[in-house]
Formats: sequence, C-alpha cells, structure tokens
Amino acid sequence: MTADAAQRGLVLVVEDEPAIADLVRLYLTRDGFGVHVEWDGTAGLAAARRLRPVACVLDIALPGLAGTEICRKLREAGDWTPVIFLTARDDEVDRIVGLELGADDYVTKPFSPRELVARVRAVLRRTAGAPAGAEQPRVVGPVTLDPARRTVTAAGTPVQLTSTEFDLLAHLMARPGRVFTREELLAGVWGYAAHAGTRTVDVHVAQVRAKLGPASVIRTHRGVGYAADA
Ligand code: CA
Repeated sequence: MTADAAQRGLVLVVEDEPAIADLVRLYLTRDGFGVHVEWDGTAGLAAARRLRPVACVLDIALPGLAGTEICRKLREAGDWTPVIFLTARDDEVDRIVGLELGADDYVTKPFSPRELVARVRAVLRRTAGAPAGAEQPRVVGPVTLDPARRTVTAAGTPVQLTSTEFDLLAHLMARPGRVFTREELLAGVWGYAAHAGTRTVDVHVAQVRAKLGPASVIRTHRGVGYAADA
C-alpha cells in the first residue's frame, strides 16, 4: 500500500471470503483509502488494536472470532472506531443492532462495493463531528446533547451512544417538536437515499430510546415518523 493510497486513512477489512475481500479492497483503494485485510477474526481484532484504522468493515461469520465479537471487544475497551458489518442475511440486521454492539452501519450480502464505499465515507463524515465550540448544547426535557463534545446526558447521567445513534438524536434535537419522516432521517443522518430501508431508522431509534431509558424524549408519531419532545 503506497502512502498516497492511504490519504483518507486506513480501513481494516476482516472477511474470510477472498473474492469479497479483494473486491472491497479494490473499491476502497480506488477511493483513496488504505486497506488492510485479515481473514481471521482473532487476527482482525489484533490488527484493529495495532493499526488503529479510521474504520472497520467486519464480516460476521469468521474463523477464530465472529465479527460481532470483534466489535464487542473493541467497545469494551473504549474503542469507538466506526464499524460497518457485512451481513449474510437480512434477518441478522435486528440482531446486530439489538446486541448493543455499537455498530455504525451494515450492508447485506450480496452488496454493491460502491454502496459499501459510500457507507464508509458517510460514517467517517458523521464521526468527524462539528468543530469545537461551533454549536451550543441542545436541551430537550431531561436530555442534554453537546454537539461539540459529542456527549449526551439523560437526567444528568452520561449516556454512551454510537456515532450513528448520536447523530440521529442530534438531528431530532436540533428542532425539538419537529416530526421527521424516516426518509428524512435516512437522508439527513445516514446521508444516503431511502433505498437502504426505513427499518434502519426504527432499529436505531429503539436503541437510542433503550439507552436514554425513562428520560427518552423521542416520540413516535404513528404513520409519520419521530420527533424529540419534552
Ligand atoms: Ca464469512
């Protein structure tokens, strides 16, 4: 990998199917990312810790250690590097998000490599965050969100959100009371068109609510979408 190829930063890809790994490597490299590939989950976790990539693309079913376990172990160690899962089945999606693994996104196989690259770029854009001091903290009821520090408290207690969960809540809290449709949230938070599926929005909303607990300020407007309301 040349230095030039890594101008966007290094992405770790852990995928045991060589054809998929090669394709992902090719497209990410073309887009200006450095790419490091591991075939085995244990080696993948070690590489994530050693190489400090800007993002990880993790297959789920891997020899050695499942992709979900790699993510879990990173999060347990306080490592919030963006993670995008490659899932083999659509019905794994709820499980991935529901496991509170701190996944930032996922694509379902078979996927378009261009789509995956778009997701990696989107997740990095989101996690780049606002410049320090650029925005004032937002308060809705018992929830305070600080866009500059990317911190959230609910009734005074710090809440740890993934970057996607944070951006979703920030989007809602930017205009309290405004009802956003799922399509608006997909476009505004995820940064890509609604074909990704509005279920993505629902599962992430459920996750943010669970983390905020009784202090949750996200209301469902049946048949319309979601709003942050005190
Ligand atoms: Ca696999």
